Amino acid sequence: MEDHNRFDVCVIGGGLMGSAVALGLVRSGARVLMVDKISRLQTASKGNFGLVWSQSKGSGNRDYSRFSEKAVLDFTDFALWLEEESGIDIELRLGAGLILCIGDRELAARTESIKKFHHEAELHGERHPSIMVNQQEVQKLVGKTALGEEVSGGSFSSVDGDVNPLLLLKAMRRIFIKLGGVFLGGCLVNGIKRRNRSYHLETSSGKIVAAKIVLAAGFGNIPLIGMMGEKLPLIVQKGQLLVTERVKPFLSLPFSCLRQTGCGSVIIGYTQENTGFETGTTVSAAVQLAQRAVRIFPGLRHIRVVRSWASLRIMTEDDLPIYDEINGYPGCYVLATHSCVTLASLHMSLLPSWILGGKRPDIIRKFKLERFNV
Ligand SMILES: Cc1cc2nc3c(=O)[nH]c(=O)nc-3n(C[C@H](O)[C@H](O)[C@H](O)COP(=O)(O)OP(=O)(O)OC[C@H]3O[C@@H](n4cnc5c(N)ncnc54)[C@H](O)[C@@H]3O)c2cc1C
Repeated sequence: MEDHNRFDVCVIGGGLMGSAVALGLVRSGARVLMVDKISRLQTASKGNFGLVWSQSKGSGNRDYSRFSEKAVLDFTDFALWLEEESGIDIELRLGAGLILCIGDRELAARTESIKKFHHEAELHGERHPSIMVNQQEVQKLVGKTALGEEVSGGSFSSVDGDVNPLLLLKAMRRIFIKLGGVFLGGCLVNGIKRRNRSYHLETSSGKIVAAKIVLAAGFGNIPLIGMMGEKLPLIVQKGQLLVTERVKPFLSLPFSCLRQTGCGSVIIGYTQENTGFETGTTVSAAVQLAQRAVRIFPGLRHIRVVRSWASLRIMTEDDLPIYDEINGYPGCYVLATHSCVTLASLHMSLLPSWILGGKRPDIIRKFKLERFNV
């Protein structure tokens, strides 16, 4: 192996996880190679809803709630830096986000859930940043746009928001390259060996040698970690979305199930289906999504849907992130979680110093693989 193919770190996977971490690593001065088996993404990093969201994260697990809240609070500075360095406006809106309820039953369930979040935060002397709002308050938030009669209220967060996830990814990748990172698209990693304190990767583009490796390959982490005799407890969950034609701005804050993008389209989300690794869309799911959207904003009944797609959420068995160094493989890290849009700020700022040999950040101390070895 020639020296020019040696890197401090090779990040496997160029989605939202890999790109955020690779960017943080290169910003810390490391020589970083990021590889992805496809050059044009078709994964969760491309098919997601774009929320920067904490109000519903970590019920029963204050560590994860706190982690999500910090990610959202750090997002403004992160976005400012990304925009300055990349020249790309990533369309971030923070400061208002709503989980909307239809009917009394949904409202009661949401009220209970928010009560629980508040209670769990109070037990740690902290505050959960969302409150319940009634139908009139939701109407005030959305201004003139008429709400459907069945809308009963919702939970409102004064920190959550949304972003254009495609532009977020593009900005992170652009700066990564600008700062000296190397990106190799169309490069499938299909073998990992540890020799002489380095990792030797067999790939479709030839051999790669790196002192450390980061497995940030979404579901691709399952076979990769299997090469080291470990199992990764990931669960597949399909989410289907709809996108409408562009319309005049009518909604200035994102709902968890409906938001208007910077170019005027309305994104309507999303299903939660357990149908394995298939990503087909169905008419029945599209109908269900469209009907709910019209119950929220009856005016949407006249708007045309132009596209629908589905992609796969990378969930862990307990819905919490996995950030770990693999047992017996020093310098080999596995990263896997849902919500990589929201968590991008922390993935870039927190994980790199740990990967480069620093202390494991306290805030992620519980997100280890060993919790599944019962
Ligand atoms: C419908 C839906 C809605 C969502 N909405 C939100 C939201 O609103 N907010 C939020 O925060 N999150 C949301 N998410 C979650 C978010 O999209 C994911 O957390 C994120 O995209 C995961 O990124 P990743 O980089 O870990 O994985 P991926 O996007 O799967 O990227 C992994 C990459 O690794 C590459 N790869 C795999 N194996 C190999 C290999 N052997 N060699 C080389 N490359 C390899 C793949 O080609 C891929 O590009 C949503 C997800 C879905 C599906």
